[in-house]
Amino acid sequence: MAMLGRADTFIVDVPTIRPHVLAMATMHAQSMVIVRLTDADGVEGIGEGTTIGGLSYGEESPESIKSAIDTYIVPVLETCDLALVGATMGKIAKCVRGNHFAKCAVETALLDMAGKRLGIPASELIGGGRVRDSLPVAWTLASGDTARDIAEGEAMLEARRHRIFKLKIGKRDVRDDVAHVGAICKALGDRASVRVDVNQNWSEAQAKLGMAMLREVGCDLVEQPIAGDDVTAMARLSQTQAVPLMADEALHGPRSALRIASAGAAGVFALKIAQSGGLFATAEVAAIGTAAGIGLYGGTMLEGGIGTAASAHVFATIPELAWGTELFGPLLQTEEILSEPLRYADFSLAVPPGPGLGVNLDEDKLAFFRRDRTAPTLHAVTAGA
Ligand SMILES: [Mg+2]
Repeated sequence: MAMLGRADTFIVDVPTIRPHVLAMATMHAQSMVIVRLTDADGVEGIGEGTTIGGLSYGEESPESIKSAIDTYIVPVLETCDLALVGATMGKIAKCVRGNHFAKCAVETALLDMAGKRLGIPASELIGGGRVRDSLPVAWTLASGDTARDIAEGEAMLEARRHRIFKLKIGKRDVRDDVAHVGAICKALGDRASVRVDVNQNWSEAQAKLGMAMLREVGCDLVEQPIAGDDVTAMARLSQTQAVPLMADEALHGPRSALRIASAGAAGVFALKIAQSGGLFATAEVAAIGTAAGIGLYGGTMLEGGIGTAASAHVFATIPELAWGTELFGPLLQTEEILSEPLRYADFSLAVPPGPGLGVNLDEDKLAFFRRDRTAPTLHAVTAGA
């Protein structure tokens, strides 16, 4: 038996290294909800619930993730044997509907604890277990400026950090966006794979034009060009356009994955632990994709070190990960809140080998970046206003 001893949740705000321009918001900082569970024996597990752009991306915000955990999930945890991760998550599912990001953060912490208790990496507790120790990692070029993006891509190739680049488009006119992508494809040539993410910002007509033109300029993949809930239009595009369509916002766990696969609405799935509703659910989405002949890609919600390590443990269990991953979230933040940063080298992320997630919080950085820190707030007073 492992009963809950203590549960803490913190919202942590860490600045990004540059503005990150998305179709629906521009990010200057990343807000993460960190969950720390400790059992009665003192074994600790950590998890992360992170989304992007407040409520502009999805239905959960950092504040709602924290409140769902504090108010509704922790009381359920108090009644469970935390060593039984599946049974505990089943009980939470009965008491809390939706709230995938909050549930993922808690499931991550439970798997971290379970791995530490058993002395094995979390990846050994998921699906068929670990099949790889490192994962290819894409970088997102999202400064909004073509020359700056090319320079950033060149620097990443030079440093052997990334050779897959994703461009965030959908804000400008379709032809302007395609010109931007085409210039980057031309500059980087066959040294890199260039892909785009429209974050649902096109109509079907714009997507038809955009996907055809993108194929011509050498773009390899188009992520969520239109609304994720319009599966029939996604199917029409997938079946008529040569460039593969990747489902991202459309995916919310195994049932949506089955609907998309049955409709022939995507050639590639972006797997995301929070959007799927947890690490186990992500492995199920991956299994549905594999069975349907859909290519797999390890997606990110731009999580920090904990969520990225959790994602890496799931993706490390997938036998065929044809499109690599985009687990670069920690690299977009000015500082990591881990005591030892994740290791990126040779275009890849090393999956942490230690027990559980294999990562630990840096207490000083947590104290510094947490939103409710007790440091005094100074208000400048201007005389003679
Ligand atoms: Mg996306």
